[in-house]
Amino acid sequence: MNQGSGEQVRDVIVVGAGPAGLASAIAAKQAGLSCEVIERGAVVNSILHFPKNMGFFTTPELLEGGGVPFVTPYQKPTRDEALRYYRRTVDVFDLEVDLGHEVESIRPVEGAAGHTLLAVDTTHPHAGSRRRLTRTAVVAVGAYECPNMLGVPGEALSHVSHYYTEAHPYYRKRVVIVGGKNSAAEAALELYRSGAHVTLVHRHAELGSGIKYWVRPDIENRIKEGSVEALFETRLTEIQETHVVVEDAGGRRTLPADAVFLLTGYHPDTSMLERFGIEVDPATMVPSHEPETYETNVPNLFVAGQVVSGIHSGLIFIENGRFHGERVVQEIARRLAAPRDTTTRASVRVTDQGGAHRAPGGVLLQPQSASLPRRERSHLDQLDERL
Ligand SMILES: Cc1cc2nc3c(=O)[nH]c(=O)nc-3n(C[C@H](O)[C@H](O)[C@H](O)COP(=O)(O)OP(=O)(O)OC[C@H]3O[C@@H](n4cnc5c(N)ncnc54)[C@H](O)[C@@H]3O)c2cc1C
Repeated sequence: MNQGSGEQVRDVIVVGAGPAGLASAIAAKQAGLSCEVIERGAVVNSILHFPKNMGFFTTPELLEGGGVPFVTPYQKPTRDEALRYYRRTVDVFDLEVDLGHEVESIRPVEGAAGHTLLAVDTTHPHAGSRRRLTRTAVVAVGAYECPNMLGVPGEALSHVSHYYTEAHPYYRKRVVIVGGKNSAAEAALELYRSGAHVTLVHRHAELGSGIKYWVRPDIENRIKEGSVEALFETRLTEIQETHVVVEDAGGRRTLPADAVFLLTGYHPDTSMLERFGIEVDPATMVPSHEPETYETNVPNLFVAGQVVSGIHSGLIFIENGRFHGERVVQEIARRLAAPRDTTTRASVRVTDQGGAHRAPGGVLLQPQSASLPRRERSHLDQLDERL
């Protein structure tokens, strides 16, 4: 491994070039800090893998980073427009983004002048392993790469996927979709309109409350007229090569299925966070962090973006996650200006996004959303439950 001994020590290394990582890097650049972003895929790799024809539910200005205008003739931008926008912001701010490098571990090491640094170890399929040294790091790794598994037999079969991309391959095929939120509803509609026979299987009595207001009447009417078959209060219990097994109050039955989409949400990669030394609440999958600065239990290692929300992935979106970087960088800039002053860490860490927290002495702290700026908070109620 290249030990990075002769390399520049960065002020900030950002892990992940998603919207939150890019916003952190822009803030660092604007604060005059040296910053490198390490990304294992492409820039905004999660968005790259979204359904090809998806439209955002967010208006363009709420996806912006660093004040670069998101110009589009549409009220809700498309995936292609978002990809182009984020490429453009990388160019506008001339961000240093190292693509194709996966961060394997982050750990504190002794620097030359006796200060503690963070060693960031990466691997690249061709370039091999490398160590970079940095004073601080921001982990903005999102939560799109770990789907919530149903844990049913057959989930790993080749015709089963936790990601829907496009409809054409399923023309005249029988497709079973599990889920009841936007991802499931939109996939069902697109597949139906592309000539697939679609059955939606949902464990609750009705579709999720956060379904986009313009999608809800469409999916409800398609279900009502029988164009999309919907099985509510039904669980999928097994997947075979040619069919699935479902169960409801009336018992078990089989449904023919050429393809199965399990669109049941995502969660952070907790084993990766633990490899970085970050403690994770086992129940909520929320990484341990200070509510104000987003610093984790590892000094000078911060989190930003969707990873902060743990299993409640509906709480942090691009709309609000893009502001984490500004706050993280404010704290980093303050520390680097006064390097010995790293002792202002609050006594309470966020480990549960779902409710308030009691600080030592019994003071009730509000959940993280309560500490968000007003413009973030105003959206939170509407944002939950959308995916
Ligand atoms: C279908 C769909 C529609 C959506 N629509 C909207 C919307 O309209 N509005 C909205 O606000 N939000 C929307 N969201 C949510 C939004 O996309 C996410 O909240 C957002 O992408 C999170 O940004 P992030 O930067 O935190 O994480 P991500 O965008 O997931 O970025 C994380 C990055 O980290 C990289 N990475 C991970 N691990 C490593 C590693 N070890 N080393 C190097 N790189 C690593 C990944 O490759 C990825 O590029 C939608 C989500 C989905 C699935």
